Amino acid sequence: MKTNRDLSGIKRVVVKIGSSSITHKESGGADLIRIEKLVRELSDLRNRGFDVILVSSGAISVGINAAGIKDLYYDGNGDPEHPDEKLRIKQAAAAIGQARLMMIYQRIFAEYNQLTAQVLMTKRNVKNNLNRFNVTNTFEELLNLGAIPVVNENDSISTYEIKFGDNDTLSAIVASITKADLLILLSDIDGLYTNDPRKDPDAEFIPYIDKLTDEYDDFAKGSTGSSVGTGGMATKIQAAHIATSSGANMVIANAKNLDVIHEIINGENVGTWINANADKDFYLSDYFEDD
Ligand code: GLU
Repeated sequence: MKTNRDLSGIKRVVVKIGSSSITHKESGGADLIRIEKLVRELSDLRNRGFDVILVSSGAISVGINAAGIKDLYYDGNGDPEHPDEKLRIKQAAAAIGQARLMMIYQRIFAEYNQLTAQVLMTKRNVKNNLNRFNVTNTFEELLNLGAIPVVNENDSISTYEIKFGDNDTLSAIVASITKADLLILLSDIDGLYTNDPRKDPDAEFIPYIDKLTDEYDDFAKGSTGSSVGTGGMATKIQAAHIATSSGANMVIANAKNLDVIHEIINGENVGTWINANADKDFYLSDYFEDD
């Protein structure tokens, strides 16, 4: 199919994968078959000469499974009445799960001779100008070294005031500070629809957005994320505003088949492509102004 996506200048790519795409739904444990496929795709991108950054969720889910606390404390959706009660358990689970997840990534990336690095972030790393400068330099050096940074929110220490809250937003921020050319958001949906396709049979798929205007915010209203991740369509649109205003193109695509990564890079018409639209007046620090 003919597509108006322009991939000619693309060199630096951020890929975000959600918890539900790399963990087993029933147990919460790591889905090694899918992680192995993801790692192979990303290693291949490196072999083609792209700079690659992975933003991976899954720490909390893998930790809950590893520590065997799912049935005891955690109902999968959290308890909206008592958020604090769950918070400390989730934070402990994240500390266990992040280490395990990173061990899995490192082992498999090493099989493909890839150098990996872990970067755990909180809002503080980007809100403050000096901190943002430092983390930007860290990414730059890691990419100069040819490493694949594996990024997550530092869930074990981040509480409300310093939390990004979801990795869709975090991945857009990472794309912004690393001046990435493309952000690929992989999730359990095919892309953007005119309405929630699970509720509205007439909802139409949107393959290409030339300019992300505020009217798209309405399309995302009411959609929710999966039980283990936190991002719904609204967070993806918010991420798209950050990424595209910072000069990155963005694709929202389904992680069901991870071939989608090289299909996107090869210019195939999969997922929803949102064109970069660099705004010289966009500053990440303004984005956190009200916090
Ligand atoms: N940072 C969380 C984790 O690794 C997930 C956040 C999200 O799904 O957006 O478990």
